[in-house]
Amino acid sequence: MTGRALVTGGAGFIGSHLVDRLVEAGWRTVAVDDLSTGSYRNIRHLLDNPKFEFVQGSVLDRDLVGRLVSETDVVYHLAAAVGVQLIVDRPLQSMITNIRGTENLLEAAATRRAKILVCSTSEIYGKNQNGPFKEDDDRVLGSTRKLRWSYSTSKAVDEILAFVYHRELRLPAVVVRLFNTAGPRQSGHYGMVLPRFVGQALRGEALTVYGDGMQSRSFTYVADVIEAMMKLMATSEAEGDVFNVAGHGETTILNLAEMVIEMTGSSSSVSFVPYDEVYGDNFEDMSRRLADTTKLERVTGYRCETGLKEIVASVIEHLQEVQLAG
Ligand code: UDP
Repeated sequence: MTGRALVTGGAGFIGSHLVDRLVEAGWRTVAVDDLSTGSYRNIRHLLDNPKFEFVQGSVLDRDLVGRLVSETDVVYHLAAAVGVQLIVDRPLQSMITNIRGTENLLEAAATRRAKILVCSTSEIYGKNQNGPFKEDDDRVLGSTRKLRWSYSTSKAVDEILAFVYHRELRLPAVVVRLFNTAGPRQSGHYGMVLPRFVGQALRGEALTVYGDGMQSRSFTYVADVIEAMMKLMATSEAEGDVFNVAGHGETTILNLAEMVIEMTGSSSSVSFVPYDEVYGDNFEDMSRRLADTTKLERVTGYRCETGLKEIVASVIEHLQEVQLAG
């Protein structure tokens, strides 16, 4: 099935890969992005494609959102303030973008009866130490005085809004929780660890490992995330529900740093940086974050299989190209 698709945050890291894939699959695709953290460079190669249109604008512009959604069949809502660092640095704007932006999209989708996918995050689980997390597991959050948890909270509001729009207005809405997605085009500017490490290694700088580096994550390849999202949007069984979208290899951050140094052949060393120096006082990190993806696999038959080595290699290759291009 194809038709018209709208991707909010379409010039961002994940959004631009999604746009590529939708256009390739035959969808007439509109990307809307305010270019605050997204980049024109991510979608420039599509500008001559008759199936693609770029609109520079914000999801906070309710009229624009209403117009764009009225002209589409499906919506992928990816536009958001992302990354813990950005949220800690600019909490007010981040909350407004995440909550009001999603409200605008859901309201417009309900009016038009357009199917919508809302992107959420593994931050939803907070500092719950158990895992792998299942979608219905408890959320464990710290105090509202700790800014880190505002991201989790804003995304929880987004999720609940999507569920109640589905329940009360029969809006076909699907929610996905992404776990440390990585791959080409991801920027290290907003804290994301893998492009930061690769950039540091390529420049011969020390790799900044926060805390003792024993915290672990499972990284998910961006192309796998997109495949999972498109499969979820293609089945009515996913409507009104939420899905973890995640890869399976778990690594400590210190191990990741060592892997990046080895794979880039860099002479960089590792430098341990206390959390307080990066995020300010009172910061709480999650020591571990693993997903149970049984539900995604049951509903779509799809599993995110790309391994960590391949993901790291793709980021190295991309950043080398960018460096060469100057
Ligand atoms: N991290 C790090 N050095 C960096 C950036 C991040 O050690 O330069 C750590 C961060 O503290 C976290 C993990 O890497 O434990 C993943 O961070 P990221 O911001 O990529 O994603 P998060 O899992 O926090 O959403």
